Amino acid sequence: MKKLLILGAGTAGTMVANRMSNLLDQDEWRITIIDQHANHYYQPGFLFIPFGIYSKNDVIKPKRDFIPNGVELIMSPIDLIEPDHNRVKLSNGQSLTYDFLVIATGAHIHPEQTTGLQEHEWRKSVHEFYTVEGAIALARHLRTWQGGRMVVNVVENPIKCPVAPLEFIMLADWYFTDQGIRDRVEIIYATPLPGAFTKPIASRYLGEILDQKNIKVVPEFMIEHVDPDARKIVSYDEQEVEYDLLVSIPLNMGSEVVARSGLGDELNFIPVDKHTLVSPKYANLFVLGDAAAIPTSKAGSVAHFAVESFTENFLRCIDGLEMLPTFDGHANCFIESGFGKGLLIDFNYDTEPLPGHYPLPGVGPFSLLQETEMNHWGKIMFRWMYWNLLIKGLELPLPARMTMAGKWNN
Ligand SMILES: Cc1cc2nc3c(=O)[nH]c(=O)nc-3n(C[C@H](O)[C@H](O)[C@H](O)COP(=O)(O)OP(=O)(O)OC[C@H]3O[C@@H](n4cnc5c(N)ncnc54)[C@H](O)[C@@H]3O)c2cc1C
Repeated sequence: MKKLLILGAGTAGTMVANRMSNLLDQDEWRITIIDQHANHYYQPGFLFIPFGIYSKNDVIKPKRDFIPNGVELIMSPIDLIEPDHNRVKLSNGQSLTYDFLVIATGAHIHPEQTTGLQEHEWRKSVHEFYTVEGAIALARHLRTWQGGRMVVNVVENPIKCPVAPLEFIMLADWYFTDQGIRDRVEIIYATPLPGAFTKPIASRYLGEILDQKNIKVVPEFMIEHVDPDARKIVSYDEQEVEYDLLVSIPLNMGSEVVARSGLGDELNFIPVDKHTLVSPKYANLFVLGDAAAIPTSKAGSVAHFAVESFTENFLRCIDGLEMLPTFDGHANCFIESGFGKGLLIDFNYDTEPLPGHYPLPGVGPFSLLQETEMNHWGKIMFRWMYWNLLIKGLELPLPARMTMAGKWNN
């Protein structure tokens, strides 16, 4: 029996397990997937919890429900990856060997890396929404908040879903309006980027929308520390921004097992060939999803398109064929913008998000970089697609490679 070992049963790992159990001959292959936690979270749903739109029940399901028959699921923390020996050691004492390894251990927040962030004001006047616990605590706080200055701060990039902080502030604008306290709330977005988003055209479009919503952007803010008593964030170049409520997007890092195994960069993300997702050092080691150090967004959509490309290449690889450089960094994300509207962006390594239309047979087209109700419904529908199609590895009518169809090239 040949062995395919998958580390991490989140978005990417679960898709790979489902795809491969369909495609590989079960008499010849043993597929094993490992994760430390029993629950699968729909992370895009965390964004809606602070505003009372979703609750915990809307974003959580048992991981076991999504692992197909014939795939072995081991629940244990992974202790060490030893690619020189084709071996992985688990904290439960088990040692597993493999022929092929897929690392899909994701990215996680590290508030303890910023001085003053996770101290006595944590979950009081200082919050986050990148974990389910954080999103629930913030919902509780917002329910009785009387207004003041809310500062949303990204500590450093890359972060999971780089548009999530923008969605948060736009939803907050809607929520405070709905609560009748918008005139008592100042919303400030302090970001290390030169503008609202990483790419210039999208940054211009999104910056204008934030302007219209009376949301102030403080660009190039590289946070050095939080002063939780004086309620201010301080940057390396000594800019200070005061807050009544700080919503932080803490430093995102890859899993510690990556660091322990000597496989990652300074943020524990793993270098791979950006078009094949294979390690430059180990030809039988692939990295999918947020764990990979590649120059595109850390997003579920990217994990999905990367798994499509991986599937094709993995089958070529086991047939002794050369792998094709098919992954183009494709990302597409709905951006919820409040008041029942949303935007959509679609881009890849070479093409930044452009305005225009995104054709989708039967449902679309969706408007790119424009606020529409249709985009809002796309975002809402996506949760159903995630649980019922995407992580089960079923086909979605979304091309893995980005196309220029519908885009205005201005
Ligand atoms: C607030 C928020 C909003 C988002 N919105 C969107 C969106 O609108 N659109 C979009 O496309 N994406 C969005 N994302 C991003 C998306 O959720 C992630 O990019 C996606 O889940 C990444 O999948 P992954 O498999 O790489 O990692 P994950 O799904 O995080 O899975 C990693 C798995 O590895 C396991 N693991 C890690 N280390 C170990 C270890 N040592 N031992 C055992 N198990 C381990 C973890 O337990 C976890 O189950 C959002 C994320 C957040 C936080």
